[in-house]
Amino acid sequence: MKSSDLFARAKTLMPGGVSSPVRAIRPYPFYVERAAGSHLSTVDGTDLVDCCLGYGPLILGHAHPAVREAIERQLEKGWLYGTPTPLELDLAGMIIADHPAVDMVRFVSSGSEATMAAIRLARGYTGKQDIIKVEGGFHGAHDAVLVKAGSGATTLGVPDSAGVLADLTAHTRQVPYNDPEALETLLSGNDDVAAFILEPVMGNIGPVIPDDSYLADVREITAAYDVLLILDEVITGYRVGIGGAEVLYGVKPDLATFGKIIGGGLPIGAFGGRRDIMELVAPAGPVYQAGTFSGNPASLAAGYATLRYLHDHPEVYRRLDDATRAIGEAAADVRKGSFVRMGSLFKHFFRDEPPQNYREVKECDTEAFSRFWKAMFEAGIFLPPSQFETNFLSAAHTEQDIEQIADAYELCLFA
Ligand SMILES: *Cc1c(COP(=O)(O)O)cnc(C)c1O
Repeated sequence: MKSSDLFARAKTLMPGGVSSPVRAIRPYPFYVERAAGSHLSTVDGTDLVDCCLGYGPLILGHAHPAVREAIERQLEKGWLYGTPTPLELDLAGMIIADHPAVDMVRFVSSGSEATMAAIRLARGYTGKQDIIKVEGGFHGAHDAVLVKAGSGATTLGVPDSAGVLADLTAHTRQVPYNDPEALETLLSGNDDVAAFILEPVMGNIGPVIPDDSYLADVREITAAYDVLLILDEVITGYRVGIGGAEVLYGVKPDLATFGKIIGGGLPIGAFGGRRDIMELVAPAGPVYQAGTFSGNPASLAAGYATLRYLHDHPEVYRRLDDATRAIGEAAADVRKGSFVRMGSLFKHFFRDEPPQNYREVKECDTEAFSRFWKAMFEAGIFLPPSQFETNFLSAAHTEQDIEQIADAYELCLFA
């Protein structure tokens, strides 16, 4: 069956025909038959260079042999025990060793779950009610953070979600990104703030890059007001380098959240941080958190193999940085829009200057983006289908892939 037929049937079975909103490409999404390395093959017989990579987790590309072998080895031994496994110690130990701010971790099954638990933990630790997030920052699809979120909610033009209690979101305040003064002003008038949660590099509307001193300022201000700093490293963790944004920018959060890459392409999340805070998590402490699939062996095996590979091949990060630079150079001569990149994250914004925050991202010409996206698709490149989603590269992208992407950028931007 072709994608169009599959989608017609899917719409009768699932809301909008999809399992997550951003996938609802118009007029119909393509269905994937298989994926290997940097390429996707669709049921329609199309071959695509993948710059979406499952929205970030697949830093080694699809079906990487080291990760596949680790999963296969685990599957032979079963894939769910409901008891602790030795693998947990390997992955926890590695994440802790790579992140100076992380003394202990708890594994969960998604990034959303990780931020939800970290926010609860911050409230439990401080005894305070409010949280602050960055406007357009995305931390998953749960109530406390579903306030003018970036990502899917932005694309569909739904700043809030129906069904989220106003009473709950009243405890979520927002500040613009790259604006430490706004944070300080908010905190100086509110002594009931438990935590400030932010993506260190905004990945779900971007990348939007932090100003030179922004993260250091944020750390200083939150410490001065006795507010916990939660770095949401679900995208940046092991993406901007080993140790994530924490190490890259030298900022020490109280809590951090992880997901995506640390599961090597299987579902995972984790939150961690200072020992005195983490020891409040059940059963060590009174902040309840639990999950049937938490720390499941298949995700741990895939994640550990991925992180192990990155440790053994740190040159991957430099290669990826060179690759997005090459794509940026192809886009450089174009008059319209601005190309932003950071390591393996990149995006062309249809706005003259690179955006500094959500409001500026919203100024982008989304119709121009749609035309560009379609042209890129026809040139055999799959980009995330939204102006508000970051593009990714993987270690599996070859020189030839990069050239193809760069050529397509040049062609489609000039069109
Ligand atoms: C993807 C993402 C999440 C949510 O993770 P899921 O695994 O999709 O629940 C949270 N925070 C950030 C920064 C993300 O990019």
